[in-house]
Amino acid sequence: MSYNEKEIELIQFWKDNKIFEKSVEQRPENNPYIFYDGPPFATGLPHYGHILSFVTKDVFPRYWTMKGYRCERKWGWDCHGLPIESICEKILNLKQKNEIYEMGVSNFNEFCRSKVLWYTNEWKNTVERMGKWIDFDNSYKTMDNTYMETVWYIFKKIYNEGFVYKGKKVLFYCPRCETPLSNFEISMDNSYKDVTEESITAKFKLKEEPRTFLLAWTTTPWTLIGNVALAINSEQTYVKLKVDNEFLILIKNKLDIIKDEYEIIEEFKGNDLLNKKYEPLYQISTNSNGNGHIVIDGGEDVQSEEGTGIIHLAIYGEFDYEIIKKHNLPIIQHIDEHGDLKSGPKDWIGKWFKDVDEEVLEDLKQRNLLFNSEDYTHSYPFCYRCDTPLIYNALDAWFIDIQQIKPRLLETNEKIKWYPKEISKRYQNIIETAPDWCISRNRFWATAMPIWMCEKCNEIKVIGSIKELQESAVEEVPDNLDLHRHIVDEIHLRCPSCKKVMNRIPEVFDCWLESGSMPYAAKHYPFENVEWFNNNFPSHFVSEYIGQVRAWFYYMHVISILLFNEIPFKNVVVNGNILAEDGTKMSKSKRNFPDPNLIVEKYGADALRIYLLSSQLMRAQDLNFKEEIVKQVYRRFNLLLFNVLKFYSMIDFEELTMDISISNNILDKWIISLLNILILDVTERMDDYDTAEVSRLLFSFIEDLSTWYVKNSRDRFKSEDIHEKSSAMNALSYVLVNLSKLLAPLTPFMAEMIYQKLKEKVIVDSDSVHLEQWPEHDEKLITHKIHENMDLTRVIVSRSLELRENSKIPVRQPLQKVILKGVTLDNDYLQVIARALNVRDVIIEKEDEKELIIELDTKITSELKLEGIARNLIRYLNNYRKKLKLSPKNRIDLYLTTESKEVWESLEIHKEKIKKMIQADNVFKSIKDKVGGKKYNIDKHVIEVYIEVKN
Ligand SMILES: [Zn+2]
Ligand SMILES: [Zn+2]
Repeated sequence: MSYNEKEIELIQFWKDNKIFEKSVEQRPENNPYIFYDGPPFATGLPHYGHILSFVTKDVFPRYWTMKGYRCERKWGWDCHGLPIESICEKILNLKQKNEIYEMGVSNFNEFCRSKVLWYTNEWKNTVERMGKWIDFDNSYKTMDNTYMETVWYIFKKIYNEGFVYKGKKVLFYCPRCETPLSNFEISMDNSYKDVTEESITAKFKLKEEPRTFLLAWTTTPWTLIGNVALAINSEQTYVKLKVDNEFLILIKNKLDIIKDEYEIIEEFKGNDLLNKKYEPLYQISTNSNGNGHIVIDGGEDVQSEEGTGIIHLAIYGEFDYEIIKKHNLPIIQHIDEHGDLKSGPKDWIGKWFKDVDEEVLEDLKQRNLLFNSEDYTHSYPFCYRCDTPLIYNALDAWFIDIQQIKPRLLETNEKIKWYPKEISKRYQNIIETAPDWCISRNRFWATAMPIWMCEKCNEIKVIGSIKELQESAVEEVPDNLDLHRHIVDEIHLRCPSCKKVMNRIPEVFDCWLESGSMPYAAKHYPFENVEWFNNNFPSHFVSEYIGQVRAWFYYMHVISILLFNEIPFKNVVVNGNILAEDGTKMSKSKRNFPDPNLIVEKYGADALRIYLLSSQLMRAQDLNFKEEIVKQVYRRFNLLLFNVLKFYSMIDFEELTMDISISNNILDKWIISLLNILILDVTERMDDYDTAEVSRLLFSFIEDLSTWYVKNSRDRFKSEDIHEKSSAMNALSYVLVNLSKLLAPLTPFMAEMIYQKLKEKVIVDSDSVHLEQWPEHDEKLITHKIHENMDLTRVIVSRSLELRENSKIPVRQPLQKVILKGVTLDNDYLQVIARALNVRDVIIEKEDEKELIIELDTKITSELKLEGIARNLIRYLNNYRKKLKLSPKNRIDLYLTTESKEVWESLEIHKEKIKKMIQADNVFKSIKDKVGGKKYNIDKHVIEVYIEVKN
């Protein structure tokens, strides 16, 4: 059976025996470990990033469960917002927002509902296959009525407490999706791309001074149509130049942009330019106050790194908009909501804003108002859903006033434990620079905002529950009212002031408001589960990738501060991003990464789990995914452990216990002490959410166990001496039982394989390792002196083996002695050395050497040589037995023939030992008529053998 198949078998075993459910239910309700699993979208298939989050979110709940806590885990789905809407628009072939109105919001929303859980089965399979335990089938969904009702409740509460306002703000806006996007969303998915475009420097003609122009630079020529003013820095020095027969004005320290010959006519402070009037490049009809097209002071924000020290202002910029408002300049929006030009030169009306760039350029050139143009590469944001270039747009929207709660957010951040620690500082900076939160979206498939407005007097009423709506509505409202836009829009209220009809406003909520409300809405708090909630808030642990620091974590924090003035989570584990092997983004179209399903098929879920958990991803750093490393992990972890387990289970031994007190063997004492140190260290690192270090500790222990303890104890496990054998077996059983528990959170499959094997031997009695308690270390079993001595022993062995290698004598050839100088070691250790080196004596010479000196006696006497032949023979014959698939219980007769006198001699001397080691009853010195035997070459001696199986 492959490792993959074994894991799949265990998944079934856990299901059949309800091990996950038991692991939760067996822990007391009044001792909870609370965990919020952030809801993902089911709109695509799970990728490595998701797998990483499955694993991270699985490890710690398992760990704390073993520590005695009750950790309930429930899956959730994020169902709303642009991701699903844009998928549905594609399927329905809708190009523009008004086509949604044409098909009907109701039809569109119901279509979204039908598609939103499209991939849930694929998700379930991956979650299950990765060994993540969670209640998947009773998942909450952000589109549940109960969920949305809680969102209404939260909104009304914070609205009533004065944290919500309606305002006009410059926001990133997607002209195709026709909705604002938050800065968070844009930076989270790294929606900025480097683009090279033609930037231009335009000439603005001063009104009072003939042939005199102000130079202003822009990367977005289309905005020049909506220009309302030019901003300068009044403190800086500007110059007036004569070029040919024109006069140009710009900041003095940018004179290098003038390539033609010029003469400086005048130098002056920017102050002198204030309030000068200029002729607009484009006449545009506005209904505003008409005090535009003058030079104003932009203060220190006007810099000259790029451009001319003179900034062209239109409302399509955050900075511009603030200045425009401050100076009471006209608000000119010359682009409509679809991104098309709605005012400006007649011929261009209806053109897509990006196409206007070219027109402006040509037009200014013809009118001699273009100073120059050049290619300019800058980073520009695109819609993360439809890839349309975004524009800043001044929009009416609803906001949560973040500035009011900022001090409290900063203060409570001190209470949150971030892993790694550095994220705390970064998060602090995110809070410090956070703008107010735009929570309204001009879209369709999301929780409808519960605001009704009077059509006559504009009075507003906010509704906080279905019950409240039932009490206030003109129409009949059912108890199970769906709170989506197309349903709720049919319901009207009566204005308390003027008695006219109130309609719901068209906006829906930002879906981050929904996911940030998850701690409450998933439980329909406070409509239900109030007591449960009071005992289960805040959570102990959340985890997501680094992009969520300014998204889900932040929004949960904001809502929690608004509601309870407290943090919503205590420990946050932040993961890095998984990239393709070459460090670029993983991309399906580029096929630059291996299919996760194939990786799991080849190496199993455990290998992938521990590969991720041991990596820098757990320290919030990015990782280039390398299959080669997964393979190495598989070898270093799975195969090593698996071989130990196989060795252990092959040994036939009845009276197993975990009584480790009977052993006086130094290797037993060493591995037991090492295990107790491991328990201590792993526990400490797990308490600190540090799986990278935990993995390192486990890898190192497994290597010590396999390549030192088991390797050097092999003979003892097969010893006739019952005390020797039971000491070794008990020690190894004790180590494996505890190791399986330490492995359980990180590699639940391997842990269970070990545990079930121990269960066969009746030394453990739980149904599963995952129902066990976390082990505690025993200080009395830790002896540091043993580790010092064993470390020295290992150094001696490895250096002596080098000597052997240099003299080309294989380890199987026994040697007489090794002499050590400059060390003191007890006899226990000398025996270990003798066995590991295959020497008869280890002699310590008490000379006063300062450092370790090893002298290996490489003389091979004929006696040693004969012993070497016997050992080789034993090894070959045991391999032969293995090929015949014999178990230790199978007895054999050996038939053997050779021309070599030495082989016969060796056989004579070591016959009994050989018989014992290969479980043979008789050795016949001829091959008779036996066919199909084997031929070996030992030191140039040719030997023919045949094995006859007797039982
Ligand atoms: Zn878009
Ligand atoms: Zn009214």
